[in-house]
Amino acid sequence: MKKTGLTSFFDALHLVLSNVRAVEPVGRSLLSAAGFVLREDIRADRHLPPFHRSAMDGYAVRLSELAAGKTLFRQVGTLEAGSAWKGKVGKGDCLKIMTGAPVPGMLDVVIQVEQSRLSGGMVELAGPGVCKFLNIHRMGADAKKGALLLKKGAVLSPRNIAVASSVGAVRLAVSRPIRVAVVSTGRELVPAAATPSPSGIRDSNSPFLMARLKTIPWINASFAGIVKDDPRKLETILAAALEKNDMVILSGGVSMGDADHTPAVLERLRVKNIFHKSAIRPGKPIWFGTSGKKAVFGLPGNPVSVGATFHEFALPALKKMAGISDPHVRVLYLPLGATAKKSHPLREFRVARLVDGGAAVSPVETYQGSGDFVSASQSDGLIVIPEDRCEMPAREIVEFHPWDMP
Ligand code: AMP
Ligand code: MG
Repeated sequence: MKKTGLTSFFDALHLVLSNVRAVEPVGRSLLSAAGFVLREDIRADRHLPPFHRSAMDGYAVRLSELAAGKTLFRQVGTLEAGSAWKGKVGKGDCLKIMTGAPVPGMLDVVIQVEQSRLSGGMVELAGPGVCKFLNIHRMGADAKKGALLLKKGAVLSPRNIAVASSVGAVRLAVSRPIRVAVVSTGRELVPAAATPSPSGIRDSNSPFLMARLKTIPWINASFAGIVKDDPRKLETILAAALEKNDMVILSGGVSMGDADHTPAVLERLRVKNIFHKSAIRPGKPIWFGTSGKKAVFGLPGNPVSVGATFHEFALPALKKMAGISDPHVRVLYLPLGATAKKSHPLREFRVARLVDGGAAVSPVETYQGSGDFVSASQSDGLIVIPEDRCEMPAREIVEFHPWDMP
């Protein structure tokens, strides 16, 4: 535990991730599990496909006969998807077959309808260039019975729901929703609906955090209110929020100002401080602590600091609590569309936007610093300017953390 000085970004992230645990799993029905985090492995209950599946509408025949130069076949029946052929298919015979129907064992190619012709009551099929299992999706080709299809820790995307459905997994073990409370602190703050005094500010951090949390299906977020830098009120609200939630996210009041009461109040509530202040910009005064299994983030109040520190620290913590196998933020490596500069030795997370149709990323030119949420609203994510760099020239490959890829 480090309480004084600046904790490096990577040490801070490590401290966050090593101090939170996955919540317990619960059972949910297939569709209501969509978007949640899977907490069990899902395996194939039979081969996929479960039989040699015709991949085309056409005619099933023996390759050996085609290879021997035979072109005219007698049609002995028609097989639809969902039916099985019980009869025989003798020498010189073919079976009309529809996409999805099981190809009988004695036949090994399907010639598509487009390559056939009816001629004098017989079916004429084109033979050259045909190889074994043409247009047959072979039994077990996609997955063998017992194969691991979905891994514990996966987020159940619509595609994953389709896979679970196909093996009959109608009830899934998923992480229960993570309960998160959001608190804004600051004497100057009023709710968005109120008219601020000339020195007042409308709260934008809580609406940001609530909206961001709302986009995550496995989170239950609640707004605990605005606290006007009154330590006693803050203590009451935080005590209640801690009681009912897995994580509390505060904004404001963690710097060195006279009204920055958050750390002292949290310590009074026996929330153990894990680190305070990291060598990053924006967001340097960030405070992180735990109380049993619960986590508390005190994010610096400037709106861009909130956006950056939520993304870089709180989101990975939430992902770990939800049991996601890799809780780190998503990183894309893209060329810079313009030079990125800084003049401090901290790790900078600079608001940036995709350019050239997403082939490059550029810092938002108008950005005025961590209070400038207007410029930040033009961004698609953050680029990283490492501690030891003052300037990254255009075209250099930069780390880009998109806001909207979970
Ligand atoms: P603090 O971290 O409390 O020193 O706040 C830093 C700056 O962010 C100040 O200019 C605050 O007015 C501003 N700020 C703090 N909280 C909010 C909020 N909830 N919404 C908008 N701005 C805020
Ligand atoms: Mg404040």
